[in-house]
Amino acid sequence: MKTKALLFMVLCLCCMGSVQAQQDGRIPAKGFALDAPDGKFRTYEFTRHALGDNDILIETLYAGICHSDIHTVHADWGMPVYPLVPGHEIAGRVVAVGKDVTKFKVGDLAGVGCLVNSCRHCDECETGDEQNCTGRVLTYASKDYHHGNELTQGGYSDNIVISEDFAIRIPDGADLKRVAPLLCAGITTYSPIDFSRVKSGDKTAVAGFGGLGHLAVKYMVRRGAEVTVFDVTDDKRQTALDMGAVRYVNINRPEEMEGLEKQFDFLISTVPVGYDMSSYLKMVRRGGEMAVVGLPSFKEMPSIDANTLIHIEHCKLYGSLIGGIRKTQEMLDYSVSNGIYPDVELIEADCAAIDEAYRNVQQGKVQFRYVIDMSTMK
Ligand code: NDP
Ligand code: ZN
Repeated sequence: MKTKALLFMVLCLCCMGSVQAQQDGRIPAKGFALDAPDGKFRTYEFTRHALGDNDILIETLYAGICHSDIHTVHADWGMPVYPLVPGHEIAGRVVAVGKDVTKFKVGDLAGVGCLVNSCRHCDECETGDEQNCTGRVLTYASKDYHHGNELTQGGYSDNIVISEDFAIRIPDGADLKRVAPLLCAGITTYSPIDFSRVKSGDKTAVAGFGGLGHLAVKYMVRRGAEVTVFDVTDDKRQTALDMGAVRYVNINRPEEMEGLEKQFDFLISTVPVGYDMSSYLKMVRRGGEMAVVGLPSFKEMPSIDANTLIHIEHCKLYGSLIGGIRKTQEMLDYSVSNGIYPDVELIEADCAAIDEAYRNVQQGKVQFRYVIDMSTMK
């Protein structure tokens, strides 16, 4: 009996690169978690579901810090379940593949964004808009009903297991340390810019020149559009102009806001805090479009009244959530082939460094995007 049990154990302890699955096939992982909205990061050991036939196991090499991570862990959008490992901008290397996997092989580079699964049969899934599927499973803080309702845990960790259908191929030659933020900040801006068909010569604007906003500038400059940038300080004025923007507006300087009514064909708002949305909408011309992607805390959620809407003269206002898997692959291929990457600051995979990065993002002290170099994890 004893020998049988030992044999079973040996068979089940499959080796996956440097990761050893447990007896029940679950995969040990180590990451950085918070235990409360006002908590500090601590190292956290947990397990991920076993590698299914269509799954791949990715060793995390880089993980971006998105403002959405900060909103989520601080309970800005409702109380999440803790311990919570954030991170939905993941770039890494495939270290194991399930027996039916065709898209990846061991050694390939792969990325993960905000989604790890969906219902796969609704209209949204059929059309490649899995982000709008009511059964979508987010990369972290989401109940994974495909795996016994366990809570998903994100990319501030040494590995992730994901269905190959939701992993993104990272093209050869990509600048890997700058790829991770494209998986959320990139697709979230690329998708509405594409949806609104921004083209050469269009007058466009970006509200909020942070992680998302600076990628919106790069995408629209690449398309030949004229870009105006709005932010709240003078700090990034020169950087915006160097990036190809034609104008930078510090909204706290009233004189810079003059003469901008009904100017823009397209405006994308990435503002992460409470603000007057109508002040931006009024700058969109008749027939123009404004896409809202910034999602402030529920406590300070901007709204727009009917009177303002009626008087804006037929411009279109819409919201946009990340993007589907096909679109994300398209965005990544496009970004890499056009050399469009985020400006990143690498930080160590260390609790204090991540705590500090969070403070800096909230205090406007980060230039654009922090990326955790997971290879430095102890
Ligand atoms: P960042 O903090 O990197 O960037 C936000 C920028 O907006 C900062 O430069 C900030 O300035 C600036 N800002 C603040 N208030 C204003 C204002 N009134 N007008 C113009 N600029 C302003 O955040 P991210 O880019 O990472 O994320 C932005 C938002 O997008 C977040 O709410 C995030 O949750 C959301 N998001 C939405 C997604 C979607 O699918 N729709 C996906 C990913 C993110 P300062 O730093 O000086 O305060
Ligand atoms: Zn994000």
